[in-house]
Amino acid sequence: MPMSSEKIKNLSQQYIMSTYGRFPVAIDHGEGAKLYDPEGREYIDFTSGIGVSDLGYGYQPWVDAITAQAKKLGHMSNLFYTEPGARLAEMLCKRTGESCVFFANGGGEANEGMIKLARKYSYDKYGKGRATIITLNNSFHGRTITTLTATGQDAFHDFFFPFTEGFRYADADSMDSLNAVAGDDVCAVMVELVQGEGGVLPLDKAYVKALQEECSKHDWLLLVDEVQTGVGRTGALFAFQQYGIVPDVCSFAKGIAGGLPMSGIMANEKCRNVLGPGTHATTFGANPVCAAAGLVVQETLTEEFLQEVQKKGEYLREQIEALNLPCFGKTRGLGLMVGIEVKEGYKNSELAGKLIENGLLVLTAGPGMRLLPPLVITKEELDAGVAIMKRTLA
Ligand code: PLP
Repeated sequence: MPMSSEKIKNLSQQYIMSTYGRFPVAIDHGEGAKLYDPEGREYIDFTSGIGVSDLGYGYQPWVDAITAQAKKLGHMSNLFYTEPGARLAEMLCKRTGESCVFFANGGGEANEGMIKLARKYSYDKYGKGRATIITLNNSFHGRTITTLTATGQDAFHDFFFPFTEGFRYADADSMDSLNAVAGDDVCAVMVELVQGEGGVLPLDKAYVKALQEECSKHDWLLLVDEVQTGVGRTGALFAFQQYGIVPDVCSFAKGIAGGLPMSGIMANEKCRNVLGPGTHATTFGANPVCAAAGLVVQETLTEEFLQEVQKKGEYLREQIEALNLPCFGKTRGLGLMVGIEVKEGYKNSELAGKLIENGLLVLTAGPGMRLLPPLVITKEELDAGVAIMKRTLA
């Protein structure tokens, strides 16, 4: 018998730091896009553990690959070569046009690597005094001291002083705003192509093109944070492919290994040798079990699969808009990264609480709702989730 939900909740409250505002639900296991609490109650999952479990739960090839790799070799340091990481890096480069990969463990850590790379690229070429990175207002880049600073939201710039120097902020979709904070000390611009935590807000395509041109004009590196948008979430392997650009450096995490902790950065040829031996490292990077899981993710996310993700995203948005719920406005997003406007007079966290109580796991972002279902979700599971929305919020 698994431990009861109540017991798990009590133990967690007693022994785990209270850094998360949690919903009163414990999850024991899952199958496809369905999750179950210890008492056997079913939930439809529109969250994927915040964009991580892209293959859903209990996906057999993923379970088999992890099991086989764990039996063979569970960990090896980066002082030696291992096959799964090498193969995963090759696949990522071949599918994106990037040149090389550095593997890490979480999104914030990957972004730290990207920031280090940008500053060293500039230092190697131009010397000191050119280390500033422009990020966008309303962005989110992580919880380390430096990535909190990179995050363009004042709410994240509290408590943990002193913060890292060398960041300035511009408004999304405005070259004027970018140029107003630019200067000789800038080495890079860092963006999310769809601001995730900020409220599922896709950047304008023309702006992204103009941004890329401005970056190459000044030799600023264009850094794209694909921690949330990457690995099929938007209906392309990476969102930058939908925007028709190849960034100098891009970070990824969340969905890369389908549920195991893994992240990394990919860099183009220009940036290949910036982080040489001794400049950057992480003990668990390219862990063979995580990389074996990542290979299954890559093998599953074929071009046909990604087209399905786009179609499922469109279908889900149409179905939600057709409900005409009093609390919801328009939907937005790309692929299965869906944002829903919450109308005035309603609070997103309260709506989420009601949906979860009725068996549909959802997320909030900014003032709106955010849906990140597993990419393997079926039409029936999408319909079941939408039916819970109707029953709960009509
Ligand atoms: N960057 C983006 C765009 C994110 O959405 C997140 C997490 O939500 C992060 C960075 C931080 O990732 P992690 O929590 O894995 O450190």
